[in-house]
Amino acid sequence: MNISQGKINELLTEPGCEHNQAKHGEKKNKSCAQQPQPGAAQGGCAFDGAMIALVPITDAAHLVHGPIACSGNSWGSRGSLSSGPMLYKTGFTTDLSENDVIFGGEKKLYKAILDLEKRYKPTAVFVYSTCVTALIGDDLDAVCKAAAKKTRTPIIPVNAPGFIGSKNLGNRLGGEALLDYVVGTEEPKRSLSHLFMISFWN
Ligand code: SF4
Repeated sequence: MNISQGKINELLTEPGCEHNQAKHGEKKNKSCAQQPQPGAAQGGCAFDGAMIALVPITDAAHLVHGPIACSGNSWGSRGSLSSGPMLYKTGFTTDLSENDVIFGGEKKLYKAILDLEKRYKPTAVFVYSTCVTALIGDDLDAVCKAAAKKTRTPIIPVNAPGFIGSKNLGNRLGGEALLDYVVGTEEPKRSLSHLFMISFWN
């Protein structure tokens, strides 16, 4: 998922928001882009927002590619209705060290995805970038593509590092990852029309 300035502008255009109804001109389209201030308990970064949007997918694994401190956010304190799978409650992180910052974290990420897939057999793995891995230039998309080929499991890159913007923008980038890599990629085993037929005959 490539994040260009144009894509960010598109995601931050919100003419339907109720708070914008009384505004005029360009302000009418603006979404909430408030950045958290140090010491203020007002919410997290874009990475946090992306995770909050996607962690409710309960049978997927959510792997944070970054320092351990980034991953201490949403999955532990947020719940989700589930028909059974609880994998989303387990936190996964590549736990980058100083060496990884110097030499790059791509190999570590690749190994982490393979290990995770072997041990937990998730239906999919969401891989989140963070400030550190975006700044050192790790190619999340390429690693996810290689790991997906090796594991034959959907490995979905979520490029929403914290410095890119607000939690609100991160929510949207999480949704974009779903649109880019999940929605429309497979036909359901049973179609809606099939279900309608069953309820009709019952
Ligand atoms: S992604 Fe960046 S802003 Fe967000 S928790 Fe990690 S270091 Fe902090």
